[in-house]
Amino acid sequence: MHPELVAISNLWQADVRVDSLRAEHERLVATVNSTIQAQKDAIAARDAAKAALDATKTEERHNSRELDSYAQKRDATKKMLDDGSAPNYEMAERQLANCIALVDELETKGLDLLDRLDARTAELAAAEKARVDAESAEKAARQALGARDAALRVELTEALRVREVVWKELPFDYQTPYSEIRRRKRVALVNVVEGNCVVCHMRVAPQKLNEVMLKRAVHTCVGCGGYLLPGPG
Ligand SMILES: [Zn+2]
Repeated sequence: MHPELVAISNLWQADVRVDSLRAEHERLVATVNSTIQAQKDAIAARDAAKAALDATKTEERHNSRELDSYAQKRDATKKMLDDGSAPNYEMAERQLANCIALVDELETKGLDLLDRLDARTAELAAAEKARVDAESAEKAARQALGARDAALRVELTEALRVREVVWKELPFDYQTPYSEIRRRKRVALVNVVEGNCVVCHMRVAPQKLNEVMLKRAVHTCVGCGGYLLPGPG
């Protein structure tokens, strides 16, 4: 490689290293943040499931009490009719029919409520399990960050130091164009395969590639601006 291309390559490799360490740190932090949010969501879902179960329990208790009261009233009315102590026979008969119908209705509702209680209980158990899982995931994410954080900082400091050194080795004329490539988050070094830039697929003039391969000149791709590498050949 042309010595100036070597300098660009060294700088590019240093930048790729810095980028990858920063990206690794960002990924670890992002995972921690997303697991914190997931845990909050899981707690809210668990609390909602608990509230739904409590509401169904209250409804069921209320229904049971009402059922008991109408059953008692039904039995008392029936007793009055049986022993002839009802003050008004027709009224008592209507009341008995009424109570029987209500007891029937409340019993049906009671069965439905028991089914709902089972369902709500299962939902709460599932929500609680999800919360426990979310808690473990958050702990694991924190541990992963904690296990890597100190080493990452050391590695990043070293990578930035290396970058500093290779930056100074880059000839002045290349500093602005290279910084522009970085600013645009573009690839600084591009390979040419079968006459085309692998990054943007633009055709590369054979003369240019030839000069790059013979280390006579440094050229950039007209499409993406990346510095042309001599290629595997
Ligand atoms: Zn290109």
